[in-house]
Amino acid sequence: MTGLSDSFQRPINYLRISVTDRCNLRCIYCMPAEGVRLMSHRDILTYEEIYTLARVAAELGINKVRLTGGEPLVRSGLTELIQMLAQIEAIDDISLTTNGTLLSRYAAELKQAGLQRVNISLDTLKPNKFKFITRHSLNLGDVLEGIKVARSVGLNPVKLNMVVMSGINDDELLDFAAKTIDEEWHVRFIEFMPVGGVSTTASYFVSVSDIRKRLELLGELEPCLPSVGNGPAKYFRFPHARGTVGFITPVSEHFCFHCNRLRLTADGRLRPCLLAEDEIDLKQPLRSRISSAGLKQLIEAAVANKPLRHWLAEGYVPKHRPFSQVGG
Ligand code: SAM
Ligand code: SF4
Repeated sequence: MTGLSDSFQRPINYLRISVTDRCNLRCIYCMPAEGVRLMSHRDILTYEEIYTLARVAAELGINKVRLTGGEPLVRSGLTELIQMLAQIEAIDDISLTTNGTLLSRYAAELKQAGLQRVNISLDTLKPNKFKFITRHSLNLGDVLEGIKVARSVGLNPVKLNMVVMSGINDDELLDFAAKTIDEEWHVRFIEFMPVGGVSTTASYFVSVSDIRKRLELLGELEPCLPSVGNGPAKYFRFPHARGTVGFITPVSEHFCFHCNRLRLTADGRLRPCLLAEDEIDLKQPLRSRISSAGLKQLIEAAVANKPLRHWLAEGYVPKHRPFSQVGG
């Protein structure tokens, strides 16, 4: 195995797989209020197809896989997919990004199947605001329970992702930060990206430098290493804190030059960049029984197509798909 690298010599070893475009929430930063047109079931890759693709990608050098959505836990049988992926020897890291609402129900079986760790979206600690942000009557309590159960079954680390939005949840920055001091919370503050169907809300944006300044009211942030992975977040810790604080700056300081990922949409398109529209269809070739060698060529073509960087800060906003279809 020689490993994959793109035309800018970036090693590519990470595949994010969106297993569904469906979601049980309608977060204001991710989807328009009316939702999005859903893919038909026959357009969504089967678990067998995802497995075939992951196996071939692993032969090329992918060793890290994350399942995402929409909301991955609304697709039935996800545990089965994890079991299948866990059998691919070259894949040594299987993780999940979820809104956490269904996690307490599934965490134990997911762990048993081979899931190693989980990222949970949590944008507020206030029940009413949770309903406002998610536009849904599901409970914040379900997510908090999901966090607890995920930890107790040994999914480690549990990282919490907060998309910071001005005038919506930025009044809770210190509450989230305080949780990292008292409890073993690993909170990552993410800059809001004005994409797919929610671009009229660009005024939500708060830069990480602004977030950091506000957090330092609680004490000096000391840099620390992430416990797992080498993703885009930069990690810090308050003195004597049990948890960590991470910052993700897709807008104010893009991290494209270190990007190691490809994305697979639920309808089987391989997307070299979250924030560029280019995609290569793998569903039709898979359904026409393409050979492994043919599939490898398509994956390599997607990698070769990976753009150097995104242009969000310069105003280029991809419009074709909302994040709920690309997996964030
Ligand atoms: N449903 C799952 C969840 O909410 O974690 C997985 C899919 S969601 C699209 C994946 C990630 O995208 C979430 O962590 C979410 O915070 C992030 N995301 C969605 N829209 C975003 C936006 N406009 N700006 C920044 N992050 C966004
Ligand atoms: Fe659903 Fe996740 Fe998007 Fe929220 S962020 S609407 S939970 S896909």
